[in-house]
Amino acid sequence: MKWSALICSCVLIAALAVTLLIGGLTAPKAADAPTQTPELMASPTPVTPAPTATAVPISWGWDGDMEEATGDINRWVTVLLDDGLHWMRMNYYLYGVVAGEMPASFPEEALKAQAVAARTYTLYKQSHTTRAHPNAEVCGNSACCKAYASPEVLKERWGEDYEKNAAIIRAAVDDTDSLALTYEEAPILAVFHSTSSGMTERSADVWGGDLPYLQSVSSEGEEASPRYSAKVKIDAAECKQRLLEAYPKMKLSGSAKNWFKSIKRSKAGGVLSLKAGGVTLTGGQMRKLFGLNSSCFTISASKNSVTFETKGYGHGVGMSQYGARAMAIDGADFREILLWYYKDTVMTTLAEAPDV
Ligand SMILES: [Zn+2]
Repeated sequence: MKWSALICSCVLIAALAVTLLIGGLTAPKAADAPTQTPELMASPTPVTPAPTATAVPISWGWDGDMEEATGDINRWVTVLLDDGLHWMRMNYYLYGVVAGEMPASFPEEALKAQAVAARTYTLYKQSHTTRAHPNAEVCGNSACCKAYASPEVLKERWGEDYEKNAAIIRAAVDDTDSLALTYEEAPILAVFHSTSSGMTERSADVWGGDLPYLQSVSSEGEEASPRYSAKVKIDAAECKQRLLEAYPKMKLSGSAKNWFKSIKRSKAGGVLSLKAGGVTLTGGQMRKLFGLNSSCFTISASKNSVTFETKGYGHGVGMSQYGARAMAIDGADFREILLWYYKDTVMTTLAEAPDV
C-alpha cells in the first residue's frame, strides 16, 4: 500500500473539533481551515427562510420546464453569501458548490460523487442550526460550510469556456437529482477534502466525534494532486517565537532538534499529538500555527531551521476529491466512489419535495 510508505508525522486536529449531539451521535463540524469553529447545535426543525431572503435569479442556463420540474428544483436552501442572505433552489445552489469545490476538468463520475456529497451535506446542515449564521442553513465560506461560486464568478474564472464547463457541472448535479447518502435513514455529515495522505482520517482522530461512516480508508492516486506534498521551512528563531506567542507557558531551549517530542499518529499518519517545551499540541494546532496543508507532517530540525513536510491537503476526513478522481479514471462510478469513502451508508432517493 502506498500510504504505508508515507510514514508521516501527524497530531489530532481537534482544533477543528466541533461537537454536537444529534440522536446520541457526536458529530464534527465540516470545517477545513482551522480559523473558524462555530458550534453546531441540534435543531428540531429546518431553518425557515428569513423574510429578507431573496431568490437568486436563475442564471445557470437551465432551460427546462419549471412547471414540470421535480426533485432538487423544488427544494429550497437559505444561503448566506457575501452579498447577503439568499433563498435558492437546491439545484442552483449545488451548481455553485460543485463548481466551487471541484475542477470541471475532473472525470464525470467524480463530479457526480461531489454533487451527491454536497447535496447530502446540505441536507444535513438543514436539520442542524449553525451558530455562525442561525438564519441561514449554509454559507458560502469554505472554512465554515462549502465554497459557492456564482455564475458571475465562474464567467470571470472560465472565460470562453464558461458555457462548456457550466454544462458539465449542471449535468453532474442534474444526473444525480434527489440522490443522497444516508445512515440509519438520516443524511450523513458528508465532509470531503482535497487530497489525503494516501489514507483518509477517521473523524474521531480529527474532531473527536466518532461517526461510523467516517472511518479511515485507503485512497490511491493522491500523488496527482499538486498539493500532495509540500514543505514549509522556517527559521528556528521564528518557529520559537510563534510557538511562544501562542503558548506562553512553553519552555524551549537549546537546539530546535530537541523541541518536538512524543509524536503520536493516527492510522492514516496524521499527527494526533506531540509535545513541545512541556506543552501538548494537536496536529490541528500545529497546522494552524504554521500554515501547513494538513496535519500529516514530519518535522526535521537543524540548529537554525525547522522544516515541516506535509502529505495531503485538507482535514483528510470523508471523500478525497483527488482520490475520487483516481477512482473515476480507474472506472468506478459515483456510487462506488461514495460508498468507498462513506462506509456503510445507503444511497437514497429523496422523497418528492412539496411545491412551495
Ligand atoms: Zn457556514
